[in-house]
Amino acid sequence: MGETKLFRTTIAGSLPKPFWLAEPETLWAKWRYQGDELEAAKRDAVLVWLKEQEDAGIDIVTDGEQFRIHFVHGFLEHVGGIDWDRKTKMGIRDNRYVVDVPTVTSPITRKRTVHVEEVRFTRAHTKRGLKWTLPGPMTICDTIADAHYGRRADMAMAFAAVLNEEARELEAAGADVIQFDEPAFNVFMEDVKDWGVAALERAAEGLNCKTAVHICYGYGIEANIKWKETLGSEWRQYEEIFPALNASRIDQVSLECAASKVPLSLIGLLKHKDILVGAIDVATNAIETPEQVAATLRAATEFAAPERILPCTNCGLAPLSRTVAVGKLKALADGAALMRADAG
Ligand code: ZN
Repeated sequence: MGETKLFRTTIAGSLPKPFWLAEPETLWAKWRYQGDELEAAKRDAVLVWLKEQEDAGIDIVTDGEQFRIHFVHGFLEHVGGIDWDRKTKMGIRDNRYVVDVPTVTSPITRKRTVHVEEVRFTRAHTKRGLKWTLPGPMTICDTIADAHYGRRADMAMAFAAVLNEEARELEAAGADVIQFDEPAFNVFMEDVKDWGVAALERAAEGLNCKTAVHICYGYGIEANIKWKETLGSEWRQYEEIFPALNASRIDQVSLECAASKVPLSLIGLLKHKDILVGAIDVATNAIETPEQVAATLRAATEFAAPERILPCTNCGLAPLSRTVAVGKLKALADGAALMRADAG
């Protein structure tokens, strides 16, 4: 399983929670347990998903995000400077959802290490490549209100600094890839160019492991499906931001390609990056065939050499049933194997 293997597979990050940890097929479901029992249940869930990913044939695995309910708030819980009782109504992702969000009221600090013990535990139980995901600074700033910094760019840099402290510890604990999730990059394209990429690079500063950014069109939930219907026949958001990402120090870009209106030619704008090609649609329960996965990957090879392509999922698999998620993992690995066989 060396670095020379072509089409090494990975996933965007999240996987379904087992029934004993939280209500299945429900995004952001509450934990079933508390305290020590909850910690034990989370760890058991990670062991299950490491085994399922390995059996399916995934090369670079994750903890399936079994340790957290929400990809942004799971990190922010451990960050100082936030008043959780002071809720502000905010239309996030450019008013795609209106929610009550907590408010930043004083300088951002990291109260304690957040995921280090979790990385150590996961690292100890797999020999595969290990990816860890963190929310990106721009997406955090689009999920929290600001009553302290005044400019979103300044608040993003403050979050980037604490993310960087965390990321350095996660690398030391054994993460091979650290991925920042930036769904907001698809929404605020001007800000991405002005300060989003700079904040992302600040978050990844000094890391020697692989660094990645995941930019998707979201889980297959209703608000996202409605939003996608407004985006027209071709989704060209990536076109505006990829040149800035290509010029950045981030190693890998994860994008949505399966059952998507993203023109794959946009991959051609990322000549210096590894491409995590989303070849699994997360908005349907239909399990792709290996041939369908291979067709998406083959289309991507028109715009990037096989050495730079890592087959991946469009986004997280958290809202799906375990059976469907496992089927999709296997389809992804089998599709990649077809590509490898073709490459001889
Ligand atoms: Zn995503």
